[in-house]
Amino acid sequence: MRFATKAIHAGQGADPTTGATIVPIYQTSTYTQDAVGEHKGFDYSRTVNPTRVALERQLAALENGRYGSAFASGMAATAAVLNLLSAGDHAIVTDDLYGGTYRLFSRVLVRYGLEFTYVDMSDPGAVRAAIRPNTKLFWVETPTNPMLKLVDIRAVCGLRTSGQIVAVDNTFATPYFQQPLELGADIVVHSTTKYIGGHSDVVGGVTITNEKEFADTIAFHQNAVGGVPNAFDAWLTMRGAKTLALRMREHERNAQAVAEFLAGHTEVEKVFYPGLSSHPQHDLAKRQMTGFGGMVSFTLRGPESRALDLAHRMRYFSLAESLGGVESLVCHPARMTHGSIPKEERERRGVTDGLLRLSVGIEEAQDLIDDLRDAIAATVPALR
Ligand SMILES: *Cc1c(COP(=O)(O)O)cnc(C)c1O
Repeated sequence: MRFATKAIHAGQGADPTTGATIVPIYQTSTYTQDAVGEHKGFDYSRTVNPTRVALERQLAALENGRYGSAFASGMAATAAVLNLLSAGDHAIVTDDLYGGTYRLFSRVLVRYGLEFTYVDMSDPGAVRAAIRPNTKLFWVETPTNPMLKLVDIRAVCGLRTSGQIVAVDNTFATPYFQQPLELGADIVVHSTTKYIGGHSDVVGGVTITNEKEFADTIAFHQNAVGGVPNAFDAWLTMRGAKTLALRMREHERNAQAVAEFLAGHTEVEKVFYPGLSSHPQHDLAKRQMTGFGGMVSFTLRGPESRALDLAHRMRYFSLAESLGGVESLVCHPARMTHGSIPKEERERRGVTDGLLRLSVGIEEAQDLIDDLRDAIAATVPALR
């Protein structure tokens, strides 16, 4: 099966009891047993639920992985992967990473005795230099959020020795554009809230791996800790993921058009998009990804306050957290998604008060460009 076919068919056969073509929402917490311990493989919905199983199979197939575990959020999925570590273990982490992941690592998990080193993983030498005898995990985000830097997944995997794990948060690229397991990673994590769900109407997460040992441990924690999605959320996510291929093609086409428009605008200082030939890692993007995705970040010329001014002036780009839905969004990372990172640390990573991040939706590209052009003009009184 190829990608778009898997999205619609993997894990989603007709319902065995009724023939329902679409996987039903099994809205049940428990299952009647024929005799004590004799059941059809389902005993309690925190442990296993047929709608969730269908979603897990669908998403595992999209990543070319054998095992999927669905969670109630991307953060719950991330926490489940970190459950593979024990007190005293060390993780090397992409420095430009999702703010919530940074918060989980730096404010919660350090109290459990895990150690984290944040490095610019786009420099493999920096990754190598950070390795310690107790390093157990490499946590990779690529493209990074919100600077859209790339990490060479194969290069990081080349540094891994036995017993170490490479996990990739593939939320930005999606399996349509990047397949970390094929590049050597051990585990892929997604916030399915974003492109996979695709319609900004459901929060969820997933982990995918080919290693039975990791899959079993993650499934154990999924049940033991209990951060599972309910059947309706699993169903909504599965429904969204059916059109992932179609949507990603449009997201990318629009993002490329928006990035090129911004790059050619005299009021724009810098544009960050892996699909621009000016992106310092454009060649790596072409090698590692089959497309450049739908996220574009940029800064305007002039005072940083222009970014705040622009953020609320657009008609189609809603000022909102999150990304990956069919509708376009604009976000001010320093005040919104990355507000939990100390200012000094944030600015060192390039997340200045002048930076805006766009999640380019699948509206008509020309409407989005007109919207940006008008809003930018409105922030330059002298040009009106
Ligand atoms: C949103 C996001 C997360 C967290 O996912 P939630 O579903 O919001 O818990 C993790 N990583 C990345 C890259 C994200 O964009």
